[in-house]
Amino acid sequence: MVFDSKIQPISTWECFKQRPFIIAGPCSAETEEQVLQTAKQLVSTGKVDLFRAGIWKPRTRPDSFEGVGKQGLKWLKQVKQETGLPVGTEVASEKHVYESLKHGLDMLWIGARTSANPFAVQEIANALEGVDVIVLVKNPINPDVDLWIGAIERINKAGITRIGAVHRGFSSYEKTRYRNQPQWQMAIELRARIPEIPILTDPSHIAGDANYIQEISQKAIDLNFDGLMIESHICPSKAWSDAKQQITPNDLVRLLKHLKLRAADIEVSDFLDFLRELRNKIDIYDEQMLDLFEQRMKISETIGKCKKENNITILQSIRFDRILRKAIIKGEKKGLSAEFIDKLFKAIHQESMDHQKKVMNQIVHT
Ligand code: PEP
Ligand code: MN
Repeated sequence: MVFDSKIQPISTWECFKQRPFIIAGPCSAETEEQVLQTAKQLVSTGKVDLFRAGIWKPRTRPDSFEGVGKQGLKWLKQVKQETGLPVGTEVASEKHVYESLKHGLDMLWIGARTSANPFAVQEIANALEGVDVIVLVKNPINPDVDLWIGAIERINKAGITRIGAVHRGFSSYEKTRYRNQPQWQMAIELRARIPEIPILTDPSHIAGDANYIQEISQKAIDLNFDGLMIESHICPSKAWSDAKQQITPNDLVRLLKHLKLRAADIEVSDFLDFLRELRNKIDIYDEQMLDLFEQRMKISETIGKCKKENNITILQSIRFDRILRKAIIKGEKKGLSAEFIDKLFKAIHQESMDHQKKVMNQIVHT
């Protein structure tokens, strides 16, 4: 992919110390004291490269805390003056950009709801023309890599070269272990299509729960992503937004200490790192296959129930033969042997019939 303005590697950003690049800070700026205390504790860990805090908060429902607004920008400016940490906040409009730049912010991020909206991203891009600031683009809430790339392109066309992507997971209707589904393959595809762009993972918004942040962070490191954006608050249980997913600065240090980092930069370990990265990708696809099989079998069970209610037999071999023939033709186009597709589909079909049988044989207790 060719970008209008050359994307700068994260290692050339002035605030970068080492991999992984760590952005931390509260979900929202709440009070001057909360912002400054959190920042002071974070800087004293020596592990944080950039301080974050939301000033304008996009909330799902009205009447939730929607951020302290402009006054919080003064607190961020103070953080920078008193701790030396560069600071950043979320922007969703042209006005947010102007206000943030006026207060000397070093980084602006575009939130997941905003990056899903090309009009809003273009408005932000126009406000950024000729400005030198770090801009991070979170993935849109819906799993659409092109939309994510489109937002990155719009910002880059405005001349922003210190630009990064933040992987924060995707909304889904189904209730899962995590607040947002990581869909790691989306970030992997972004990396494949724009290899030069720094990618950070935001485990806090993927997890929605402080207990899962370690495992998600480890996965991001195993995939060789460049850094992490983690929500940290001096007293998470009292946070005005996202209380369940924030961790104290001390817990952040513990988490980072337990991360298994990738081997140092020598040839053999490069090869091993590469192999590990590929194996991690395979694990992700294997997990997805299992999830798909699970969903597929649930549908078979529902069909089983219907058949039972309507007295239809399980095996409808004409339909299966047709499906198998089609799958073999499709599979061959994808480089998969007919023998493999035959075995795979027969096994799936058998499992599916077993699930249906189980449902049909269930005795209904009234
Ligand atoms: C945030 O980082 O506080 C935030 C609102 O994130 P997202 O846009 O990922 O929901
Ligand atoms: Mn948050």
